[in-house]
Amino acid sequence: MMVIMQVNSRDEDIQAIQEHLHKRGLEGQINRGVERTVIGVLGNTYPELRDELELLPGVREVVPISRPYKLSSREFQPESTTFKVGPVTIGGGEFVIMAGPCSVESEQQVMDTARAVKEAGGNILRGGAFKPRSSPYSFRGLGEEGLKYLANAKDETGLPIITEVMDTRDVEMVSRYADILQIGARNMQNFTLLDEVGRSGKPVMLKRSFAATYEDWLLAAEYVLSAGNKQLMLCERGIRTFETYTRNTMDIAAMPAIKRLSHLPIIADPSHGTGKWYLVTPVALAAVAAGADGLQVEVHPNPDMALSDGAQSLNFENFKRLTTLVMAVRKATEQVPSAP
Ligand code: PEP
Ligand code: MN
Repeated sequence: MMVIMQVNSRDEDIQAIQEHLHKRGLEGQINRGVERTVIGVLGNTYPELRDELELLPGVREVVPISRPYKLSSREFQPESTTFKVGPVTIGGGEFVIMAGPCSVESEQQVMDTARAVKEAGGNILRGGAFKPRSSPYSFRGLGEEGLKYLANAKDETGLPIITEVMDTRDVEMVSRYADILQIGARNMQNFTLLDEVGRSGKPVMLKRSFAATYEDWLLAAEYVLSAGNKQLMLCERGIRTFETYTRNTMDIAAMPAIKRLSHLPIIADPSHGTGKWYLVTPVALAAVAAGADGLQVEVHPNPDMALSDGAQSLNFENFKRLTTLVMAVRKATEQVPSAP
């Protein structure tokens, strides 16, 4: 349920609604938009509540939200979410390129990659220090040591860092190094972790699980938002289908579909979305043309020697080619008004 306030409603009116909701064991999340203030009602609502709220001063109308996700919906917030990560703007028509190795392997590897990413026009450095691996015998990351290498690369290049956090126990420590906390596909429905990153106050990127519908994904986003963290973006990274040639099937329709359903920025990850380095650039371009707010791409100085995801990692030369082509597609499509 959503309470839409009159244009000239007063702070006392909003306060009175909050108190009314509290008395009934509910919570109100306020969104002060450019045109109107909306209060999203969270909790178990009941049919009579609509009439109760519509009688309160300053209320224009109360509309039921038909979808199970609320705070992440366009109905609740018509304006697209935008926020800053250091010097970089996420959403709001800006385009962000996050790139770096799948795993942090050594100080040299991260530093060399950070320089190449910056040189090619990337704006955020990625690198995994805690790696979710299908097999426990695969390389599982350098942990805090890896985060230190990322921090050094940030000091030198100025690129903010995005890195995955897999465990609630690590959120505080990872937050000391990272500018954006990444929630991986395998943890998209780790609800205690979502609560914790929601409380951290750090920007978060929530990757789609390989078996999640848009509704599952946006409900997961709801955990972060309802914990009070609005600095959230989504990342489409491919889903599991019957096709086996590609690692996953990249869902290009997710870009315009999510933009229609939600105000959250959407990033495309064509590396995990395809699993093959030679498919990464074409699929990245398709995602850009489909309206993605940014890309996350795996880049490695020597993909053949990578400790994880070498087959889908671009070398520096191919990454430079990707950024050049991405900018061309952006330019060709940016004047076109977005879909209704
Ligand atoms: C990654 O970004 O390296 C990663 C593990 O991604 P995903 O969670 O999408 O598989
Ligand atoms: Mn990877």
